Amino acid sequence: MATTTIEEASGKVVIKNIGLLLSGDIDQPILQADTIVVMDGIISAVGRFKDLDTEGAKTTIDVRQTCVAPGLIDSHVHPVFGDWTPRQNQLGWIDSTMHGGVTTMVSAGEVHLPGRPKDIVGLKALAITAQRAFSNFRPGGVKVIAGAPIIEKGMTEHDFAELASAGVTLLGEVGLGSVKAGYEAKEMVAWARKHGIQSTIHTGGPSIPGSGLIDKDVVLEADADVIGHINGGHTSLSEAHVCELCEKSSRAIEIVHNGNERVAIAAAKAALELKCPHRVILGTDGPAGSGVQPLGMLRMVALLSSLANIPAEMVFCFATGNTARIRQLNCGLIEVGRAADFVFMDRAQHTAGKTLLESVQLGDIPGIGMVMIDGLVRCMRSRNTPPATEVPVVVH
Ligand SMILES: [Zn+2]
Repeated sequence: MATTTIEEASGKVVIKNIGLLLSGDIDQPILQADTIVVMDGIISAVGRFKDLDTEGAKTTIDVRQTCVAPGLIDSHVHPVFGDWTPRQNQLGWIDSTMHGGVTTMVSAGEVHLPGRPKDIVGLKALAITAQRAFSNFRPGGVKVIAGAPIIEKGMTEHDFAELASAGVTLLGEVGLGSVKAGYEAKEMVAWARKHGIQSTIHTGGPSIPGSGLIDKDVVLEADADVIGHINGGHTSLSEAHVCELCEKSSRAIEIVHNGNERVAIAAAKAALELKCPHRVILGTDGPAGSGVQPLGMLRMVALLSSLANIPAEMVFCFATGNTARIRQLNCGLIEVGRAADFVFMDRAQHTAGKTLLESVQLGDIPGIGMVMIDGLVRCMRSRNTPPATEVPVVVH
């Protein structure tokens, strides 16, 4: 398990001979470029090899005409501490997910902590501790944005101000604690927003014994920044209510792996029909009752592309640039100044698709040949995906 606290700088990295460059930008998903130059973990140039300064690189990677995309961002995870999940008592799930192309994860609450405190001072302390712990510890190099408190009755605006000044940037899923009524959630979501804390609401039926139903009226009244797992986690609201949420709210439409797949497709189609594909973001909602899904994000991309008939290059934007913009992260887009977090992919061996994008549109998941975070190679050929037909080579 590659886990370091203090990261070395990448120096200059040249990534050349790119066959397909996916940008993460839904307005222009494919870039006409074959080379990326990185300086100390940040993209410094994107373009044609002949036009760029590629001299003096510490590391050069020959992509061998395969695909480079921004590292995937899982918008909805439930981490606890380190690379352990008590939900399925499993070790190494974050490192394993990096082998599925995920370079950033966003916590929707550290809800699986055994004995999780529900009193106000305790829940604040947990959030601050989780935020600190995951900023100091990155399993497999993965950036885990954690410290997402579950709001409880009795919290005041002062509590949100205090959390914000301590470095907390997210709320865990609204509705998992004692605040379940729309009017109560609305007040706290507004306090959070005022202090720069982003909110996500649980949508749909209870996930596990002990959690509750949040229906479309509560979601609309609470007005959280992200309509969390709009397709349920697992139990979904009706398709009609989900489409109504897409139409009446202007907030982010988060679709997850551990939800209702039929409604996932309906929600993505509704967003396209409403001409707001930039609102769609993807997550797994793992670890959960259905386990840990190292390939969950890739499976979501293949599901939506193949069954909702959305071009694969666009669905990759749901899993990268859309999430980065909505969650204000400095990754997810192939753009100068952004973090050099990339996933290198090719069509899986023996897929019926002739190209990577066609294979995804046919429902196959791609093979990963390399993952890079902050300009550093974190894995070569993935141990989890089907084998990529061609993989990048580290020239030096
Ligand atoms: Zn939930």
